[in-house]
Amino acid sequence: MPNRISRTKAVGLSIGTALVMSTAWSLVSVAGPANAAAVDCPTEEQIPAEDLQSGENAAACDLIGRVVLLNDLSVYVPDPGEGITAQAESATGEDATSLTVETSLDGTVTAVIGDVPDPGSQNPDPAVGTDSSGASEAFEETDAVTEVGEVVDPDFDPLAVTLPRACRMSEYNFLGHMWDANETAKFLVNNTEARPSNITAAKFLAVAKAAASHISGGHNDCDIASNPAINIAFSALTTYNSNINGAENRCAADGDGRNTVDFGNLTSFLALTCTRHKNQPGWTYRKITESDIRMDNTSVSWVTTTSGCTGNKYDMEAVATHEFGHWVGMGHVADDGDSDLTMSVHTASCNASARTLGKGDLKGLKVPY
Ligand SMILES: [Zn+2]
Repeated sequence: MPNRISRTKAVGLSIGTALVMSTAWSLVSVAGPANAAAVDCPTEEQIPAEDLQSGENAAACDLIGRVVLLNDLSVYVPDPGEGITAQAESATGEDATSLTVETSLDGTVTAVIGDVPDPGSQNPDPAVGTDSSGASEAFEETDAVTEVGEVVDPDFDPLAVTLPRACRMSEYNFLGHMWDANETAKFLVNNTEARPSNITAAKFLAVAKAAASHISGGHNDCDIASNPAINIAFSALTTYNSNINGAENRCAADGDGRNTVDFGNLTSFLALTCTRHKNQPGWTYRKITESDIRMDNTSVSWVTTTSGCTGNKYDMEAVATHEFGHWVGMGHVADDGDSDLTMSVHTASCNASARTLGKGDLKGLKVPY
């Protein structure tokens, strides 16, 4: 008897469910076109980054491993929990191009275009965990002398000190991914292949080492003495290429476990840094797992000193220092065109000032490090 009652109930439920489903199906079929629009997956072979700005479901649209394109820069959609950031300097020194594509642990793919914070906005890039205290800082100049605070001579006039302009600019942009500061971040240099004819192997190695040390050592002309707490070290020479598909200006599909600095053909950029990062349980920020830097060997004229430099030539050490800023998680900052801060969105020709950090560069580095 109990069995029969329960079976009857079960049948009753089935009928009820079937009725509901039937009604639902009718509604779906009536609303057919609208329903199709709701799952509007990108169909292009290379997905325009704009199409992913508001997020798209990776599984529903089969996005993992697809190429995302922004201008001449592209990356692959990474696995859930991972992200790839591509940052490239324009070959004409104009605004740099930046693209981050992240896949959240729940499978939402989001593209973040550009990385220059809006002056005055509080947190323009929540998808990449932008440090809000840094990103919220509008373009400003402040007097670094008051922070240095080492005025011992009562007749000393701080206003008479002519520090570089970058020492009065406070802006920075930490993108929210960082190396494990308890370990030494190591890089390889391929200085045997694809070098421009005017750059010797020894010079390229020396420049790469110098650029890395400018970041880790907090080198500046502002009399600011505190270093960021990150150790960067040259590991070894390599014949591997950086993990970048040069002809397409594209960060490679998968990491190769090597952080390589090299030369290669970047069709429309001075330099490109590809940084891979992932969610790290217990961390405030995302953890960098690999970062590669490529300097262009085709359309760019590099110089190793700005003495006598004229025309459209670029100081290799200044640009490499900027790239190592990306390598540790820094984004671009706006300036008014003078490229004073190392992480400026502009690159000035015949200008070596980015070899040393400005006030904002140091403030940014000290957020994660
Ligand atoms: Zn850049």
